[in-house]
Amino acid sequence: MQTWETIQTELEQLRTEGRYRELAVWSSGSDTWMDLGERKILQMSSNNYLGFTNHPALKNAAIEAIEKYGVGSGSVRTITGTLDIHDQLERELAHFKGTEAALVFQSGFTANQGALAALLGPDDVVISDELNHASIIDGIRLTKATRRIYGHSDMNELEEVLKAAGTFKQRVIVTDGVFSMDGDIAKLPEIVELAEKYDAIVYVDDAHASGVLGYCGKGSTDHFGLHGRVHVQIGTLSKAIGAVGGYVAGAEVLKKLMIHKARPFLFSTSHAPSVAATCLAAVRLLRENPQLPEQVRANADRFRAALQRLGFDTGASETPIIPIITGDPARTMAFSDRLLEEGIYAQGIVYPTVAMDKGRVRLIVTACHTEQDLDFALQALEKVGKQFSLVR
Ligand code: PMP
Repeated sequence: MQTWETIQTELEQLRTEGRYRELAVWSSGSDTWMDLGERKILQMSSNNYLGFTNHPALKNAAIEAIEKYGVGSGSVRTITGTLDIHDQLERELAHFKGTEAALVFQSGFTANQGALAALLGPDDVVISDELNHASIIDGIRLTKATRRIYGHSDMNELEEVLKAAGTFKQRVIVTDGVFSMDGDIAKLPEIVELAEKYDAIVYVDDAHASGVLGYCGKGSTDHFGLHGRVHVQIGTLSKAIGAVGGYVAGAEVLKKLMIHKARPFLFSTSHAPSVAATCLAAVRLLRENPQLPEQVRANADRFRAALQRLGFDTGASETPIIPIITGDPARTMAFSDRLLEEGIYAQGIVYPTVAMDKGRVRLIVTACHTEQDLDFALQALEKVGKQFSLVR
């Protein structure tokens, strides 16, 4: 069939460019060391920042919720799919983030789609950092708003765009809080000042800042002391929180609007009770354990400094996301494969996720990595890095 031949050609092209991927199939749960076939592998690519996926209190909360409510919610939120634990989770998330309200979505991806589509109309302009996450890019595509992209964290360009955007009904600046491929933090204080100067809304996607930045992991707004000056905060429940889901935290009116307009919320079944209960227990755990985000940040700082001492290029990283810039796709994937031979899983990230010459393995440090784990990783990285002339 013609179609299958076209697909085969496309796949061959990916192979030729060194971008073809097989899925790694793990036979143990998300943890510091994981089973891949017969081997134990040190996990350096998971977003399980605080080790919550296996936390006993969270597992118990999930089991109790299954016993009480069953395994599914039965429908979308607007029919029978809002259980008291869904409602409670939103109240506690809002309280945790210091906002009037919060609304939970099935994932961080759909939270962006729902929130951007609800917020942006044809008379608005959305102003987006060029390195924003795919879910933001796709969310923006779903709207009829005018689009403007500014160079990564380029505050001069952002101001130029804002200056020229006075005639739009709303100006909405959208940025990742922590950039997912580079691990740098958005210049939120400057963004907020510019927003106030040019009467714009600030929208921050804190997927990688949730549970990592700020007191108790409250995110980038808290990290910079900007409470009340950031209008929309997206969070994920899929990374540090350890389960799955996303949320939008902000004004009560925004929540009400999304309940009526956000299509993933309206047309896709709500979280299973076990997920809602797990997330509720996780928020409570975070609130009581400010040392956990401190631990992940300390581990990351130590590890990043050691990589830099070895001579690796870690780009602009300032969070537990630490890229090692390797270059073109084939070289990047070869580096990642060699690390796996040494017992380390470090995912290769290549074009089109990043620029063709900016391939990297993205290392993610968690609060659960021990000093021995990180030393093991450093030894392997030094050995393989020498083979690829990435270190001295
Ligand atoms: N936003 C950003 C910045 C992300 O990195 C991700 C996850 N890769 C998402 C949103 C999507 O979150 P989720 O995995 O919960 O759908």
